[in-house]
Amino acid sequence: MENASYISSLQLPRGLAFERPSFPRALVVMGATGSIGTSALDVIARHPDKFSVLALAGGRNAARLAEQAAVFRPVYLAALDAKTGQDLKDRLPADYRPEILIGEEGYAALAALPEADVVLSAQSGAAGLAATLSAVRAGKIVALANKESLVLAGELIRQECAKSNAVILPVDSEHNALFQALGNEPLSRVRKLILTASGGPFRGKKRDDLVAVTPETALKHPNWSMGAKISIDSATLMNKGLEVIEAHHLYGLPPGRIDVLVHPESIIHSLVEFNDTSMLAQLGPADMRVAIAHCLAWPERVAPGPAPLDLAAQGSLTFADVDHDTFPCLNLARATLLPGGPSPVVLNAANEVAVAAFLAGRLTFLGIAELVRAALDEIIPPAPPQSQAEIMDLDERTRAWSREWLRCIC
Ligand code: MG
Repeated sequence: MENASYISSLQLPRGLAFERPSFPRALVVMGATGSIGTSALDVIARHPDKFSVLALAGGRNAARLAEQAAVFRPVYLAALDAKTGQDLKDRLPADYRPEILIGEEGYAALAALPEADVVLSAQSGAAGLAATLSAVRAGKIVALANKESLVLAGELIRQECAKSNAVILPVDSEHNALFQALGNEPLSRVRKLILTASGGPFRGKKRDDLVAVTPETALKHPNWSMGAKISIDSATLMNKGLEVIEAHHLYGLPPGRIDVLVHPESIIHSLVEFNDTSMLAQLGPADMRVAIAHCLAWPERVAPGPAPLDLAAQGSLTFADVDHDTFPCLNLARATLLPGGPSPVVLNAANEVAVAAFLAGRLTFLGIAELVRAALDEIIPPAPPQSQAEIMDLDERTRAWSREWLRCIC
């Protein structure tokens, strides 16, 4: 039963009992100070009649969170730790006293606020799982930008959505494109999902060209403006690997029916190929505000900010296959979806440690794939972790092992 793992979001238009919240919608923004959070607040500010900000959660960046809070005046804020929380409080205007929650418990509480209509889950990395699960368990509409949530806990999230009637709307541009291109078509009519990839800053390079890559050059994505972690993942193509796993959990197709196509212009954000060879695609500016606005307003559509595409000025669109020899991370990720394959939790945790080490100048660019491969070979859980606690335990174990691996190669 392939469709058994079909997550609830796309069943909605087919009549799942669900009240779409009216406007204005009360929004919770998790990861407010990051790239997606900042873009979301830009969209929200354009439509004060449609959206109000109920809560903002940031990490360590008290200065930026205080600026955002002073503008949107949410009732609740959350910060990573007590020190940041105090710093945040000190920076707020005297006439504004929101409730400030702290740490993972605080994040989870904001994600489940009874007054919230839509929760944007946009924290970076595995740390975003707790808030995603909290919002899902509270039956929210979850605009999901944190792909790691599905990579780590796709099956658990599917089960929890079924219990709570929570809805996942994909913010990741490729998955949002698939969501739009699928429309109301049942998956039985779909032959393939085709995720597009820009190829990142090193498209066309060979392995030998990448020996001396620095964080500075790796962070320069040709089309998208993104946070540091996802920019490096785009350079290694691990991001596309995580996205194949994400698409598998969102749409329930096996990995053999989820293709990746290099498309350097980042105009087509993904395609659905149907049984009759027809392909439907979503095109738009390479700007995350488009997918964010789609999820926040869904099923309405609102102006997201960027100018519409000028296709005549664009002139041409090009496509190519992935160079798997130069970019092994995509297949490392894909292997985790095979029966008896390695664990996606190990893949993700090792990759997070590797990317952080690369950014800190402690690991080469090519070393990222080496560390991930070594972790996948070494850490083989007897069975896939089921609960949130088991998942986070394997995540932590992998991080510890990866840090030790880094110590040994230094
Ligand atoms: Mg993406």
